Amino acid sequence: MHQNFYNCLVISFINHNFRLIQNRIFNMHEVHQKLTDHNLRKTAVRTQVLSMFMENKGNALTNQNIEDSVSDLDRITLYRTLKVFEKNGIIHQIFDSSGKIKYALCPDGCGQLHHHDDHAHFHCEGCDRTICVVGEVKSDISIPKTYQVKRVHLVVEGMCDSCNPENTKNKTV
Ligand SMILES: [Zn+2]
Ligand SMILES: [Zn+2]
Ligand SMILES: [Zn+2]
Repeated sequence: MHQNFYNCLVISFINHNFRLIQNRIFNMHEVHQKLTDHNLRKTAVRTQVLSMFMENKGNALTNQNIEDSVSDLDRITLYRTLKVFEKNGIIHQIFDSSGKIKYALCPDGCGQLHHHDDHAHFHCEGCDRTICVVGEVKSDISIPKTYQVKRVHLVVEGMCDSCNPENTKNKTV
C-alpha cells in the first residue's frame, strides 16, 4: 500500500517535469520556425520579443509591456524589431483611443508586405487592454469609387469581462 503510493508520486513528478521541458523545447522551436518562415534571422532579441507575442496570442502589447519583460532591451532596438516584424507579416499594429502604439500577433496567412488582418479589435476603457476579435469584418459602407481603400480599422470600445460593472453587481459580497 505504502509502496504503491510512493511509486505513484514518483511517476507523477517525472511526468510533470517531462511535460514542462517538452513544452519549452516545443515553444522555442515554434518561435525559431516562425522567424525562418518570415525570412528573418534568429537573434536573441527577436526570439524574446516574438516569444512574448506568441505567449499573448490575441492580446495587444504596448512597447512598455515588452520593455518591462525583456531585460537589457533599448528602445531603438525594440522599435526596429517591431517594424521588421510588422513588415514581414508577424505582427499588426492596432489603433485604439488609448493613444499608445499597440501590436498583436498576426493570424497565419500574413506575410512580407501583405497583411490579412480583417478582424476587429476590442479596447477596454477600464483596464486599457486591447484584444483581437475573431471573425472577418464585413461592411457595406460606400466609399466613392474613385477612392482607394488601403486598410479598414474597426475598434469596438467598452468594458471587458473583468471591468464591466454589470458582471459584479449581482455577486454577493
Ligand atoms: Zn497581419
Ligand atoms: Zn478591462
Ligand atoms: Zn488583431
